[in-house]
Amino acid sequence: MKSYDAVVIGGGPAGMTAALYLLRAGVKTAMIEKLAPGGQVLMTAEIENYPGFPEGLQGWELADKFAAHIENDELDRINDEVRSIELGTSLHTIHVGEQVVQTKMIILATGSRYRKLGIPGEERLLGKGVSYCALCDGNFFRGQDVAVIGGGNSALEEALYLARLVNKVYLIHRRDAFRGLLCYQDKCLNHEKIEVVRNTVVNEIEGADEVESLALCNVKSKESSHLKIDAAFVFVGFEPIMDFVPVEVERDKNGIITDVEMRTNIPGVFAAGDIRSKLCRQVASAVGDGATAANAAFTYLQQFGI
Ligand SMILES: Cc1cc2nc3c(=O)[nH]c(=O)nc-3n(C[C@H](O)[C@H](O)[C@H](O)COP(=O)(O)OP(=O)(O)OC[C@H]3O[C@@H](n4cnc5c(N)ncnc54)[C@H](O)[C@@H]3O)c2cc1C
Repeated sequence: MKSYDAVVIGGGPAGMTAALYLLRAGVKTAMIEKLAPGGQVLMTAEIENYPGFPEGLQGWELADKFAAHIENDELDRINDEVRSIELGTSLHTIHVGEQVVQTKMIILATGSRYRKLGIPGEERLLGKGVSYCALCDGNFFRGQDVAVIGGGNSALEEALYLARLVNKVYLIHRRDAFRGLLCYQDKCLNHEKIEVVRNTVVNEIEGADEVESLALCNVKSKESSHLKIDAAFVFVGFEPIMDFVPVEVERDKNGIITDVEMRTNIPGVFAAGDIRSKLCRQVASAVGDGATAANAAFTYLQQFGI
C-alpha cells in the first residue's frame, strides 16, 4: 500500500496550489484528481478577475498555467475518484478507484458542483437541451434561442458568453434584483441579444425528445406562460462535493467547516476552496485557501513530528 505525508484530494485551483506549496516544503505528497487538472476553471470561458492577468484569459489557459506550475517528478498523481476515507489516529486511509493509500494528512479540495432546479423535465432532457455548462454545450445552439436560469455571477457570465453564439438569450430570474456583480449586470442589461425576465420561476422544462419550451410563472402577477426555446442553461448555485468525506468531519449545508488556517475538527484533515462553508467561491479565494491549508499541514507535520 502506498503511503504519503500528505494527500490532496481534488486538482482544481485550491488543490493544485496546496500541492505546489507542499512540494516546495519538501512534503511527500500525492494529488488525486478524477478528471483533468483545472476543476471548474475548465468550465469557464473567460476569467477576468484573477490578479496578474489584466486582459483576462481563457479558463483552459489558466488551468494549464496552474498545471505547469506543479510539473514536478516529486508529486505522485493519481487519476481516479476518491470513494471513501477511513479516519485513523495517526494514519488516514483513502479508497481511490481500486487502490487504497495511507496518509498522515489530507487536504480536501473537491470543490463544488452545480445545483439542480429539481423540476419536471430537467433530468429527462439533460443533454437534450438542458445544460449546466455554457462553455461545453453553447456551441450546439449557435443561432438559436436559449434561456439562462439564475441570477448570480455564473448566470450573468454565462448569459454573456452565450450571447456571442446564439440568436437570443432569455435571462430568467425569480427575483427583481440580481445577486451578480454590477459590472456583469450592466453588460447583460445593455446587451442587445439578452432579454431579462424578472420575478419569474420555471415550473417545467417541456419537450418530447428535446427542449422545446419552458413553463413559466410570474411570482408577482401569478400569470403562467410558455416560452419557446431550444436550450435551457441552469445556473442556480453550487453545492460542495463532500459525499465521500466521513461524517465525523464537521460540516453545515454550505460545506466543510474550517478555522482560518483551513483546519477541520479532525487533526491532520484540512479543507480548501469551494468545498468549505464560505461565501466567496472564486479562483483567487481557492488559491489562497490552498496555500493556507498547505502551510497549516506543514506546521502540523513539524509540530507533531509524525
Ligand atoms: C461557469 C463558471 C464560471 C466561473 N467564473 C469564475 C470567474 O470568472 N472568476 C473566478 O474567480 N471564479 C469563477 N468561477 C468559480 C471558480 O471556478 C471556483 O471557485 C474554483 O474553481 C474553485 O476551486 P476549487 O479548487 O475549490 O474547486 P474546483 O475547481 O471545483 O476543483 C475541484 C476538483 O476536484 C475534483 N474532484 C471532485 N470530486 C472528486 C473525487 N471524489 N475524487 C477525485 N477528484 C475529485 C474535480 O474533478 C475538480 O477538478 C466560475 C465557476 C463556474 C462553474
